[in-house]
Amino acid sequence: MNCQNCKTITEEGYSLCEACELRFAVTLLRLARDITPLHDSLDATLHPGGHSPVRIQTATPPTPIRLDVLDLIDMLDATARELWRCLDGIDALDWRKDKRNEDLKATLIACAGHPKLATFPDAGLYMHVINNLARKVDLALDPPEQRREIGTCELCETMLTAGAADQWVTCPVCGREQRAQTVKLRRLKTLCWDDSERGSAADISKAFAVSGLKVSRKTITTWEQRGKLPRHADGYAYCDVYRLLIGPDLTKSVR
Ligand SMILES: [Zn+2]
Ligand SMILES: [Zn+2]
Repeated sequence: MNCQNCKTITEEGYSLCEACELRFAVTLLRLARDITPLHDSLDATLHPGGHSPVRIQTATPPTPIRLDVLDLIDMLDATARELWRCLDGIDALDWRKDKRNEDLKATLIACAGHPKLATFPDAGLYMHVINNLARKVDLALDPPEQRREIGTCELCETMLTAGAADQWVTCPVCGREQRAQTVKLRRLKTLCWDDSERGSAADISKAFAVSGLKVSRKTITTWEQRGKLPRHADGYAYCDVYRLLIGPDLTKSVR
């Protein structure tokens, strides 16, 4: 027989090879360990992930719990119980016969240590489903860091960082609250209204992207090749690129 997960040859009667059985059990135990932090992160007001700590008054009251986390716990609960019944050979349609009342954590641990984990017929399928859930749990608990530098504080000049969706930023040094968009535009203005600010095509493309202006490195070098954009010894001037990008009419109205 072949392992249903990695396709290597396994002993007769085994759905998973030894290595995959171990991986499956470890994933189940990791999920059991994640249950408490998952419950903790249900509270949307406590969760710091990816958002500015400043509270904004919204038109409708915000949902007090994270529905994505609630759905994830529900899905994990249903899957773990189904897996346990499968391991014990209780038909999925006969779930009413299952009188066990363990909590989700105990259920996951029971599955991880179950003697039939590598031999029950659907082991590969459940391993796949559980792996997907584990990935989602990781994302819910550790949202990817997407904060980047957007410009300096208007009071103390500290470099501020914000996530893409943040509307407000609070300066970590002086505590001043400011609109993220204002900080970005001020940075762009400083770069573009000072004729001595120079950078490579990549620098300029990156700085403009932060402020929501799209111009690729390629476009900048093409402008130079076509004689539209002068190249100085220390690079291109931000203001030249900005003028080409926005056009003369818009530059007037922004100014
Ligand atoms: Zn395997
Ligand atoms: Zn500050």
